[in-house]
Parts: sequence; structure tokens; C-alpha cells
Amino acid sequence: MRPARALIDLQALRHNYQLAREVSGARALAVIKADAYGHGAVRCAQALEAEADGFAVACIEEALELRAAGIRAPVLLLEGFFEADELSLIVEHDFWCVVHSLWQLEAIEKAALNKPITVWLKLDSGMHRVGLHPADYQAGYQRLLASGKVSKIVLMSHFARADELHSSSAAEQVAVFEAARQGLSAQVSLRNSPAVLGWPQVPSDWVRPGIMLYGATPFEEANSVAARLQPVMTLESKVISVRELPAGEPVGYGARFITQKPMRIGVVAMGYADGYPRHAPTGTPVLVAGQRSQLLGRVSMDMLCVDLTDVPQAGLGSTVELWGKNILASDVAMAAGTIPYQIFCNLRRVPLLYSGS
Ligand SMILES: *Cc1c(COP(=O)(O)O)cnc(C)c1O
Repeated sequence: MRPARALIDLQALRHNYQLAREVSGARALAVIKADAYGHGAVRCAQALEAEADGFAVACIEEALELRAAGIRAPVLLLEGFFEADELSLIVEHDFWCVVHSLWQLEAIEKAALNKPITVWLKLDSGMHRVGLHPADYQAGYQRLLASGKVSKIVLMSHFARADELHSSSAAEQVAVFEAARQGLSAQVSLRNSPAVLGWPQVPSDWVRPGIMLYGATPFEEANSVAARLQPVMTLESKVISVRELPAGEPVGYGARFITQKPMRIGVVAMGYADGYPRHAPTGTPVLVAGQRSQLLGRVSMDMLCVDLTDVPQAGLGSTVELWGKNILASDVAMAAGTIPYQIFCNLRRVPLLYSGS
């Protein structure tokens, strides 16, 4: 059997969820959209259900998968409905629904619902992706109330630059939010992971942690709270071939690496078809037989090469950690010019093996 696999530590997931609640002092919706950022939405929801205040997903298909697996906790649809006919399923399954656009508000006004729904009314406080314009926000709130179709409204917005701890952007968005919600007495929700970790002063009845649940930092710089996160996924494989090369020999496609001295090279069963980033360059950290080493040359579809020259204990069959408790996914992502969100979401083909449930 091919040795590539992703180990998922559900105990670490629960630790990270509890940390989000502890540092925010708020209720927390565990964001498990996109199959829990590649970690398996159903298994993650099951591991968190006893303590989680609720879950958040991107769309009704993801929400229905949770209900089909027996998850009874609240589930928020982060983009609401895409078509008005989803409203009957939203009522039937008690999903909470973001309203981010006037067309959605109108659809709710027109819909025949046999039970009122919970709406999270989204404000565009400066990101300019989705959310009601500040000038429409109060009227939107009043229209929802007047529709008789809504039992509860939570006021929400989303940060564009909360991961930039020295930017004034988050504070500016909070100011826009505060002005738009003046006089409304309703619960609020603004904070994603970087805002949970880095912006304690932002008001929140509800937080929406995603990436931090999986133990990866959203910041490029060191952060003392993020340092308390525990990586959930360990992506590992084994050395399947060893090469001794003299100086001056190329390694892999495109000869992107050429030995400058005699080297020992290990070939690992892991490639971009598994979701390992093809853009990870020579020098990207890996752990071989318990020791830090580096990637060499181009990542292929099913294999990649690592440096065994200074890892004498490593050889055929040695375990290689591509990311996990020792090699941080955020460091691999940074080396590859991307973010841990994407390398987790790109994971495919490798079996997910769970522990700690
Ligand atoms: C994905 C998402 C989150 C979670 O973001 P993280 O940075 O992963 O914590 C929170 N809120 C909304 C609206 C989202 O779409």
C-alpha cells in the first residue's frame, strides 16, 4: 500500500476550538466549510459536537451532509442561499442563514415559510465582497423584522486584513460596523481566526474560527496566542528509493536542482496529485526520520525528493513528515508562496486516518 497519508488528531481540534472560545470569551461557530479545510467535515463535526455552539459551512450542500450524518447542532450557511428554493430546506433543517445581498432579503420577504428563520445580516464594512451597503443596513434590518419571516437577527461582518496586525484596516471596518448598527440591539459577529487571535478588542457575541481550529496560524509573523495552537493534520509518507549522487548531477524534472557535492537523496511517495504544492522550492522544510531536512528539485505528480546527506539514520522506509506537529503547514505554505488554507484544501488522494475521537 502506498504510504502517503494524513493523520488527523481530533484531540488537537478540540483543544484549538476551546482556545478560540477561551481567548474570545464568546460563543464560537466552528467553521468546517470545504470539508473542514480538507480535514473531513463530518468527522470534525462529530468530534466537536458535544461542546460546539454550532458550525458554519459555505452552502446548503455542505450543511445537508452534516444533517445526514446526524449532526443536530446549529449550522450557519455563510453565503446564505444561492437560489430562493433552498429556503424550504433551510426551514426544514433549521439552518441559520446569512443574508448578504438585497436580492436575498427580497426572496425572504416573498417566500412562504411555515416557520421563521434565524438570519445573520451581513454588512459590507469595507472588504467589498458581499454584505449590505452601510446605507442599506438599518432598513434591511427593519424589513427583515417586518417580514414576519425571521425569529432572530445576528449582525455580522467580515475582515479583509485581520491577518495584518499592524494595519489600521480592521479598526476602520469596526468603526463602519459600529456606525451602521447604531441603535440596533442584536448580537454581533465579526471575528474570523486572525481576529480571534490578534484583535481582542473587537466586540463579539459570536466568533467564527476556521483555520485556527486546524492548528495553523493565519499570520506571517510570530504571535503568542497562535503559538498555543496544536497542528491537527500530519501529512506523512515514506522514502521509497535512495540515490547516492556525485557532485554536478541533476535531480528531478527540469534539472532544477544540481548537486554541488556528493549527496544522498531520498525519493518520497508524495506529489502534487496529493495536494503537496508544486511550487514548493528546494529548501522547503521536511522532517525525515525525526530530523529536519529539505526538499530538493521540482515536486512531481506522485513523488518528491529530499536531502538525506546529513541524515545518516534515514534510508529506505524512513518516515517523512511533509507538514504536521514538527514542520508547520504555514511554513510550507509560505515557502510555496501560498497560505495554509490552500494547502489543506488542496489535499486529495491520501487517506485520512483519525485519532483522539
Ligand atoms: C471562511 C470564513 C471564516 C473563517 O475564516 P478563518 O480565517 O479560516 O478563521 C469566517 N467567516 C466567514 C464569513 C468565512 O467565510
